[in-house]
Amino acid sequence: MSELAYPYEAPASQALFDRAAAVTPGGVNSPVRAFRAVGGTPRFMVSGTGPYLTDADGREYVDLVCSWGPMILGHSHPEVIAAVQDAVARGTSFGTPGEGEVALAEEMVARVAPLEQVRLVSSGTEATMSAIRLARGFTRRTKVIKFAGCYHGHVDSLLAAAGSGVATFALPDTPGVTGAQAGDTVVLPYNDLDAVREAFRAHPGEIACLITEASPGNMGVVPPAAGFNQGLKDLCAENGALYISDEVMTGFRTSRAGWFGVDGVVPDLMTFGKVMGGGFPAAAFGGRADVMAHLAPAGPVYQAGTLSGNPVATAAGLAQLRLLDDAAYAKVDAVSKRIQGLVTDALTKEGVAHTLQNASNMFSVFFTDRPVRNYEDAKAQESFRFTAFFHSLLADGVYLPPSSFESWFVSTAHDERAVQRIADALPAAARAAA
Ligand code: PLP
Repeated sequence: MSELAYPYEAPASQALFDRAAAVTPGGVNSPVRAFRAVGGTPRFMVSGTGPYLTDADGREYVDLVCSWGPMILGHSHPEVIAAVQDAVARGTSFGTPGEGEVALAEEMVARVAPLEQVRLVSSGTEATMSAIRLARGFTRRTKVIKFAGCYHGHVDSLLAAAGSGVATFALPDTPGVTGAQAGDTVVLPYNDLDAVREAFRAHPGEIACLITEASPGNMGVVPPAAGFNQGLKDLCAENGALYISDEVMTGFRTSRAGWFGVDGVVPDLMTFGKVMGGGFPAAAFGGRADVMAHLAPAGPVYQAGTLSGNPVATAAGLAQLRLLDDAAYAKVDAVSKRIQGLVTDALTKEGVAHTLQNASNMFSVFFTDRPVRNYEDAKAQESFRFTAFFHSLLADGVYLPPSSFESWFVSTAHDERAVQRIADALPAAARAAA
């Protein structure tokens, strides 16, 4: 492997990062943006068009992060921008009901059969937090099962052994979460139904719900083994617990109906974010109408939000979802497959041990020759190779998530020119990782 160096400079980004560090902890508003795991200067982006981002130094990158998932049509899609401009011109927030939020909820319910009702919120974290509160209120139980390596936002009780930034920074848990909150969370290994069976046996009548990423992307991409999600659903049903499928990442990305559209397992509750907001803060939770009826104002479980169903965010989300027809998914799937093939070919040619895993059009590379079925497997990869691979691609104008515990994302805008730029950059990156 070549000496790790950062073979380029980013003076304008560095100057902004220095300014940011003076006024913001770590210089960023979400930890994984800081490049802590890979080192170097985080790029401060100033604009995005189609599959490209341009940074403060004027350098252009093919974007394989897509804002961590939402930008499935690429950046600045003209129809999404037009819908946003139209909404903005009518006002930015009313704090009353509005037609846009109804239309977005109708579009979601029409696409995802188990969604009988949805409540809109502003972030995936709020969605999972609220779904868990509702599950507890509905079942009158306290404990929650989650899986190591799954990330459900920074909800107190769900930060135990979480993926994404928590994995990137190797945090077992985080100060600020009380013992009681952690004690109500049962953390199990992913893809292990026996462990789930045993947990239900160990806590009879105590488990309110089990929450799982519909297909995890926050420890890298680790799809559920055949029958795993159905097994979870069945165990929840047998034990009187609710099955919550977290589709914040997979929702409206892995198919028209998200991961539900792929495996057909019917959850009691689901959570959404990312794609449904079209690049704005919009998220949701929903599912069985009899469970949702327990939410205020119809029921006793309180949940609210000043900006929930914001008219600009819902206009962006609705415009994006309406553009996501079968042809759009076919395009995203096809370009994802091509890039996956290019990555595998380049690494294989240099003899770099790797496992590329995908869940529909989400994918990531693990620097190990073993299949990755859970968080322990993901942590066993040689992440230092990812660091070299990442920086070589960055230097050649390809922007990956700055961590080996994240999914890569593509969009309908990733065209031939963008793919060619990735293809041109990969041989040197593979050499750097070798
Ligand atoms: N759930 C999953 C599966 C996620 O991937 C994320 C964010 O990456 C969240 C929840 C939290 O969403 P947000 O960052 O919008 O709070």
